[in-house]
Amino acid sequence: MPVYRRADITMQRGEGVYLFDDTGKRYLDFAAGIAVNALGHSHPRLVEALQRQAGELWHCSNLFSNAGLKEFSEKLTSLSFADAIFCCSSGAEAVESSIKFIRRYHHVKETNRHTIIVAQGGFHGRTLGALSAGSNPRVQESYHPLLEGFETVAFDDITALEATVNNDTAAIMLEPVQGEGGVRPHSKKYLQRARELADEHGALLFFDEVQCGTGRLGTLFAYEYYGVTPDVVTIGKGIGSGFPVAACLVTREISDTMTPGCHGSTYGSNPLAMAVGTVVLEELTHNNVLSHSQRMGTMLKTKMQKLAQEFPDKLVEARGVGLMLGLETKISAYELNEKLSAAGLLLAPAGDSVLRVVPPLIITEVHIDEAIEIFRQNLQD
Ligand code: PLP
Repeated sequence: MPVYRRADITMQRGEGVYLFDDTGKRYLDFAAGIAVNALGHSHPRLVEALQRQAGELWHCSNLFSNAGLKEFSEKLTSLSFADAIFCCSSGAEAVESSIKFIRRYHHVKETNRHTIIVAQGGFHGRTLGALSAGSNPRVQESYHPLLEGFETVAFDDITALEATVNNDTAAIMLEPVQGEGGVRPHSKKYLQRARELADEHGALLFFDEVQCGTGRLGTLFAYEYYGVTPDVVTIGKGIGSGFPVAACLVTREISDTMTPGCHGSTYGSNPLAMAVGTVVLEELTHNNVLSHSQRMGTMLKTKMQKLAQEFPDKLVEARGVGLMLGLETKISAYELNEKLSAAGLLLAPAGDSVLRVVPPLIITEVHIDEAIEIFRQNLQD
């Protein structure tokens, strides 16, 4: 179906930070499958883990456990605030599941709280619940009636949040750094205040880290960068580095309200997904990948800021955290993106006026300089 604005390029092979199309042309991949390929393409350890698992066990359903699930969940819970995880296959499924966990928690606790507060500019996926939690009329308008129970507040506006949280608030649901909304980081103060307000009112704090988590901000979880601990976190994209893996991380209090049969997913905890997710976690927490990505993020942002100063008629600013960066444009981001793709640099537009720069976390200074050079030449043209 014609639901994507696909470029006329057929990708064939990936290696590290590069993709190659079917004509052999090479592209520097600073889109990383839209913030997905955290460890780049064809990472040897991921290839090895997937091949090994493929020869052992593909699927056994959640009627049974599997060794990969135990390893993955133990790793995730020991590395995070979470006491329990739910595994699934996409970011939207993780968001959808989390909305159910929040509703279920308040149902079991009989708190009579029903509203989830969301932020203007938020994006949480394309399934109906996740879509209803977002605030982009363009992607919502043809799908009414949307799911009820969401209330949207102005982005990063503490006063607006304070005025909205009340005794009906079940949760505050935020992307610490908005991705599709244009790479817009929340302030630390705002997220801290959201935590306080949730505590004061008996509401839950839910961070959707599908895009900004799993190392993208230079910490394993986005909430660690902000120093604010939520009750629910969704991860996706980077945790599979290209394989469909996603998860919801929750506290014991929330998981205690769930019972067999009240939620599930055929492919959740799939052994192939668990094998890949476990290696991604190992790689991100060993080998200094995160501290390296922090250094690369600072370097790339500084060079992008310089570019914005050099071309004030075409660019507004560079912004973002870690390797979740964005360049706001005065010219059409889609047109600029097409030109950059043709010149061998891949980025991901976020709306009409922002180009997302979300490369694999393993980029080096050589890749950064190559990207900036392609950018500069195109902006000069
Ligand atoms: N949540 C956020 C913050 C996202 O950015 C996205 C996708 O871009 C999703 C959820 C949905 O993820 P998926 O496309 O894997 O369903």
